[in-house]
Amino acid sequence: MTKGSKRLLLINPANGYRKGYLLRRESKQAPLGLGIVASLTPPEWSIKIIDENFRPFRYRDADLVGITAVTASVNRAYEIAALYRKNGIPVVLGGIHASSLPDEALRYVDSVVIGEAEGSWGRLLEDFNHGNLQKTYTSGLSNLKNALPARHDLFHPGYFFSSIQTSRGCPMDCEFCSVPAFNGHQYRLRDPMSVVDEIASVPHSLLYFVDDNIIGYNKMAEEHAVAIFEGMIRRNLKKEWFAQASLNIIEKPELLKLARRSGCRMLLIGIEAENADALRDSNKKVNLRLGVDNYKKAFRMIHKQGIAVLGAFIYGMDSDTPEALKNRTRYILSSSVDVTQASVMTPLPGTRLFEKFNKEGRLLCHDFPKDWQHFHFSDVVFNPARMTPKELAESTNQAYRQICSMHTLRKKFIRTWWNTRSLRSAVWAYNSNLNYRSVGLEKPSEYRY
Ligand code: SF4
Repeated sequence: MTKGSKRLLLINPANGYRKGYLLRRESKQAPLGLGIVASLTPPEWSIKIIDENFRPFRYRDADLVGITAVTASVNRAYEIAALYRKNGIPVVLGGIHASSLPDEALRYVDSVVIGEAEGSWGRLLEDFNHGNLQKTYTSGLSNLKNALPARHDLFHPGYFFSSIQTSRGCPMDCEFCSVPAFNGHQYRLRDPMSVVDEIASVPHSLLYFVDDNIIGYNKMAEEHAVAIFEGMIRRNLKKEWFAQASLNIIEKPELLKLARRSGCRMLLIGIEAENADALRDSNKKVNLRLGVDNYKKAFRMIHKQGIAVLGAFIYGMDSDTPEALKNRTRYILSSSVDVTQASVMTPLPGTRLFEKFNKEGRLLCHDFPKDWQHFHFSDVVFNPARMTPKELAESTNQAYRQICSMHTLRKKFIRTWWNTRSLRSAVWAYNSNLNYRSVGLEKPSEYRY
């Protein structure tokens, strides 16, 4: 705990139902949102951050508890909230799930922060001090120009990576994605030099940029990325990093070079599917514009800079059939994608996809909030359009077995090394594949579809 007269406990709960998300707890991401909330908290508060993904939860006394949760972990958040409320300690819930369903959250907590915390956290603490905590706190999207760096000093030092955020928002509108609903369609950018200062201040040599697209989709976002990469190079920070980007990176070869020089080892690209019908299903405009035929060229350009490609794929688009999914798996195995993240289509509350499935009566889960624990991208929680839920579950499990076999991973390691000419990037990719293997091959639970 930091020193102060009042005690604030910030908690990131885990989805206990599906716990094999990553190979080692140290590979997990520190809960950056809680570090940002801590930075917004005045010095009279002592702050402790607990990440249940990193070590088991143990009850600690506090004056105020703040919990963040995604849909898959919200049920656990409600369980933890009950422990504190039983003892008369008020609990505030924030994050993407509570922002989408504040009425549900208010049945389990005292107060809900809807949307980004920057505009309301100070007000909430004032109200708490006056014994006048409100049910909800809402503020618009915050201006990130003067955003404070997260309180990395409050995270357990055992994480391998430091998480850094440089921007928020996405102008795209993929049907399944909750980012535009939560962070808006407009890019908001942090001051690049303050980002570089934050990077310089963290002790880790490995970084994860949590942005949804580190290079953005317009000139301003591109210049922002250039300023950060050049800043890292100029200050000789010697960090290695991983980020999410989109396929449009192939239109910016100079930016790719700078990314590599600043330490980029791997880029996650939302490929989603290898055929245009499935991309149309989810409104994946950028991939449609660049064309599935250009995927190969894109991977080659990224590899040429010594950077590995982490391809994110979705199983369960409306045009998908068991045969189409076999083709997707074949594509993944034969393509030069180095690491595969294969997710079952999951309709998160707050997305257009959730609204659609709800309206069409296609949701398979109805016992909420308990059933939210299945919304973690591995269970089938809806009725697919052109196959049964069981067929989707079996197709996905079959894909996991093939994509995550040790034979495939060893082959991919050699291929990544060959394509990138970088042993470091090949090791990054191999370790990431081992992480996904532990997710994908986790023993099937009692719930399958
Ligand atoms: S999936 Fe990526 S590109 Fe699509 S809306 Fe979400 S953040 Fe934007």
